Amino acid sequence: MDVIIIGGGPCGAAAAITAANAGMQAAVITKKATLMAPGTEPLESVHPGISTLLKAINAEGALAHAARATYTGIYTAGSFMPLSTNPAETWEGSHISPQAFSESLMACAAKAGVTIIDNGKVAGVAQHGGLNSITLSTGVVLQCRHLVDASGRARFLGRKLNFREYYYSPPLTTWSGVAENVSPGFFETMGTSLIPNPAGWSWLAPEPPTRCTWTRLAATKQGRLEPPTELAAFKHSGKIRSANVRWRLFNPVVREGLLLAGDAGGIIDPGAGQGILNALYSGIMAGKTVVNIVQGVSTERHCLSDYNNWFINSYEQRAARLRERYEELGILFLSPINYHQ
Ligand SMILES: Cc1cc2nc3c(=O)[nH]c(=O)nc-3n(C[C@H](O)[C@H](O)[C@H](O)COP(=O)(O)OP(=O)(O)OC[C@H]3O[C@@H](n4cnc5c(N)ncnc54)[C@H](O)[C@@H]3O)c2cc1C
Repeated sequence: MDVIIIGGGPCGAAAAITAANAGMQAAVITKKATLMAPGTEPLESVHPGISTLLKAINAEGALAHAARATYTGIYTAGSFMPLSTNPAETWEGSHISPQAFSESLMACAAKAGVTIIDNGKVAGVAQHGGLNSITLSTGVVLQCRHLVDASGRARFLGRKLNFREYYYSPPLTTWSGVAENVSPGFFETMGTSLIPNPAGWSWLAPEPPTRCTWTRLAATKQGRLEPPTELAAFKHSGKIRSANVRWRLFNPVVREGLLLAGDAGGIIDPGAGQGILNALYSGIMAGKTVVNIVQGVSTERHCLSDYNNWFINSYEQRAARLRERYEELGILFLSPINYHQ
């Protein structure tokens, strides 16, 4: 195998397809997904800009397969911000099922010739003689020259191999769920909304005719794991799910033979609305980097250094933009301390 990718989310799929389309032998190892019952899975929201990235990996169909509702802008603090900055155009974002999106991307990867081990949990990794040895929880050992970590918030390689990690926020938690049997009146008055408060925010992603996904964010230990007041009157399906979304970045995100990408390299809370976009983009960039190394476009050291600079700069730009946006909205959890260590 030229390259093995840990994780079958958007990032892993994008890296694998990019490598396979350039003629590399690529494999994705991903844990068996715990499938959520229909209607209980919180939706995630994507900007229409992801279409360009999906096109680049021949996976345009994944968006249509996963979309459950659309939106043309976001209501925030009493005003409506359209997705398009050109008033003559209307852009449509989508509220998607993350489960269906990843499934569809994995199908595209299989079609591109990627080997998929979809019930494999990577349990260990070791490097010797210029090769990576990956041990699955079953005891099976696989070897490859290049390894991409796209394991998402598990951040498998960075943690296992003690990459240096930097924090850009205090500890933050999101919790999310799905309100059901939502009344028609709710959809008439509430669109896709970011509702700020000094300690965090609530995000509403309506899925007419009867459901609405919600996500809330607050400093860890300060939030009460309850739905937002706007949806308090409705029944909630499935479990409320919480996640650690503290802003954190491994730096560097490369070592000889290894690249971290997507959330496995750096996390910003979902208020940025770019997690999936960044996962696809950095997956493509990681895949291209491996291709450039294998094809001898430049030395490995040079290719890895370019990827590292790109990843770190783009993370820091996104973090700075979100910090600025939170300040404008009076969301104060990042102030006054600078958490960058
Ligand atoms: C509550 C919440 C709401 C969000 N909302 C949005 C949103 O509205 N819009 C948006 O763009 N982003 C959103 N995000 C962020 C988005 O979900 C992530 O940024 C995106 O999924 C990252 O993609 P990825 O491919 O890097 O990782 P993931 O999608 O997490 O995929 C990682 C994969 O790796 C597998 N894996 C992990 N460890 C191992 C292992 N040891 N062995 C094998 N496989 C492994 C996992 O099972 C998974 O399949 C949200 C995040 C949260 C927590």
